[in-house]
Amino acid sequence: MRDQVERQSGASSFPNLLSPGKIGSATLRNRTVMGSMHTRFETMDRPLAREIAFYRARVDGGIGAITSGGFSPNPEGCFEDGSVIMNRDTDLGYQRELTREVTRDGVPFFAQLLHAGRYAEFDGCVAPSAIRAPIKVHTPRALTTREVERTIEDFVTAAEVAAEGGYSGIELMGSEGYMINQFLAPRTNLRDDAFGGDWNRRKRLAVDIVRLTRDRMGRDFPILFRISIAELVENGMTRAEIHDLARTLEEAGVDAFTSGIGWHESRIPTVAQITPRAAFASETAALKAQVSIPVIASNRINDPDVAEQILASGEADFVSLARQMLADPAFVAKAGSGRADRINTCIACNQACLDHIFVKTPPSCLVNPRAGREIDFRDRPTDAPKRVAVLGGGVAGLTAAAEAAELGHEVTLYESSDQLGGLLHLAKVVPGKAEFGEYIRYLVNRVEDAGVTVHLSRKLQADELDKYDDIIDATGVIPRAIDVPGSDRPNVVGYDDILSGRHIAGERVVIIGAGGIGIDTAEYLVHSGGPWIKRADYAATYGITDDAATRGSFDPDTAKPPKAARQVTILQRSPGRLGKSLSITTDWIKRKRLMWAETQVLSGVTYIRFDDDGLHVEIEGQTRCLDADTFVICAGQTSNQGISDTNTPGAAAIHSIGGARHAAELDAKRAVEEATLLAQRL
Ligand code: NAP
Ligand code: SF4
Repeated sequence: MRDQVERQSGASSFPNLLSPGKIGSATLRNRTVMGSMHTRFETMDRPLAREIAFYRARVDGGIGAITSGGFSPNPEGCFEDGSVIMNRDTDLGYQRELTREVTRDGVPFFAQLLHAGRYAEFDGCVAPSAIRAPIKVHTPRALTTREVERTIEDFVTAAEVAAEGGYSGIELMGSEGYMINQFLAPRTNLRDDAFGGDWNRRKRLAVDIVRLTRDRMGRDFPILFRISIAELVENGMTRAEIHDLARTLEEAGVDAFTSGIGWHESRIPTVAQITPRAAFASETAALKAQVSIPVIASNRINDPDVAEQILASGEADFVSLARQMLADPAFVAKAGSGRADRINTCIACNQACLDHIFVKTPPSCLVNPRAGREIDFRDRPTDAPKRVAVLGGGVAGLTAAAEAAELGHEVTLYESSDQLGGLLHLAKVVPGKAEFGEYIRYLVNRVEDAGVTVHLSRKLQADELDKYDDIIDATGVIPRAIDVPGSDRPNVVGYDDILSGRHIAGERVVIIGAGGIGIDTAEYLVHSGGPWIKRADYAATYGITDDAATRGSFDPDTAKPPKAARQVTILQRSPGRLGKSLSITTDWIKRKRLMWAETQVLSGVTYIRFDDDGLHVEIEGQTRCLDADTFVICAGQTSNQGISDTNTPGAAAIHSIGGARHAAELDAKRAVEEATLLAQRL
């Protein structure tokens, strides 16, 4: 089932997901745990009310337990300047107020303890050995043996302070390539002392932290360990070592394992759209077979049917939801009340969460701009309802209409085509982007639930203008035509012709324009596996193996990148590399997939004309003719002029949002944000 099929959920019940469970002495009302995420609350001015509202929304939405963002056990373990340290100087007053609010309904709140090691973003960071991470600029200093012992003591103290601060237990971050993980892997641990040299010494740091914490905190204090079940880096742990570690840590006092997947420096995408849902559930199941304590599955679990299947099949005892908790705090409540088809699904885009973290901005969520900013939005219906017309049923129009109607306005939506969803219908056919179909499902249901009157295949007429107090122009964009002779030839088509299936491209394709849509169109043309990536194809592409002796659980020599379905060339006028405008956390994935498909990229191109021979261009002063069966224009967008179609309105206030307001650099994140904020202000 996870090798997905586009499907609408809603009919299922979730007996396993909704049944209570135990992690050590902690009782959870269901089998869900909110996974730890960087929140950057620590970087904000007086964030307590904000932080309480963020976590409370998830508690009120039914989550079984919450894991905090990572606290460092000491200053050198901080991820960056300003990270919160859990030590004797911690502001316990703040922590107690936070934990009192979050746990007041009995939902356990675990403090994650995370030492960044060589992933820290400051000069003077420390690690088992002085080896710089490929994704970082600072080379760490190797800890002395005495300093390692002191670090273990700092972890134990951090657990004590967390308990004093009101946390229900701790999760030790032992995966994703952070410091504990760095000690475990020969990739980063070249020591020859009590904490490195062979497997037993490499695992000693993790085991000592657990054993000493258990001794100090007693049997009843829950200790979770996030264990790296597939390292996905060269010279990482073998699966045999991971399983041995799990058995040893259970014996040392761990109460539950959360599965962690891939180091941050891995070149295998683990949190992108190209990663199938629950792609590592079988690795979690293999871990579970080794231990008798609960195991928590994580990674790309964003659907209650998928979660239920993992639990029902015995692959795990709990599921961890992280980004999905940004996308929809009420995931569990909706699943439990027969409204699973109303869940706002995390589409794994990373655009408002991980991409923000990379540029040191507080994370939120593309599909839910309230995430992390709950106190900035009002939900109470207005005392002064207005009559509102929304023009356009794409992502901006649907969001504005639903938000405004939920706030008590009387909303009518006009969509000139015969379906709602706009450009999302084109996005959802691109390999790995099927989740956009879920977003259409959510938005359409939300508009219906909010009581919006929807007119399809209809524009607002001039004589209807005075029926409205406010008119929201969300008519979006139209593809930009290019001014090149011959561009009206039948084999010169738009990206919308290709992605909608109106035009089937030939074997050799030239794409004009290398923005997000040009790259998506290339991906669609070269990779023919469909929008849902299958787990077996994903594993084969990257050489992921379950062989117990293979270091890092992947073998680049066995990787089989997909074969290109077509020969594609992408052109851009500007110099420089492809994909400059894409998401920071995923552009490398797209570039690599196009490289595998031997997609040619030509930069600094001047377009001269199309004729029977092909497209004549000039590159670096040389003219050439590019022959192809199909030429696809992906030259950006211009704004639709929705409101001018209906003449000048009367007394109604006119608002323009999304692509209709500004076509350049439009993406769904800006469209959703602008639509939500406008509806809040009406
Ligand atoms: P875009 O990113 O602005 O790219 C338009 C491309 O067309 C550029 O490569 C530009 O490059 C070229 N171009 C512009 N005017 C031209 C002209 N008159 N003649 C020939 N070429 C021209 O726009 P888009 O690709 O349509 O994407 C729209 C928005 O959606 C963007 O903000 C994009 O980031 C977003 N998007 C994001 C993703 C994602 O995965 N995050 C995916 C799809 C779309 P040159 O001027 O160098 O030729
Ligand atoms: Fe998921 Fe995208 Fe929201 Fe991040 S921004 S939580 S990836 S939908």
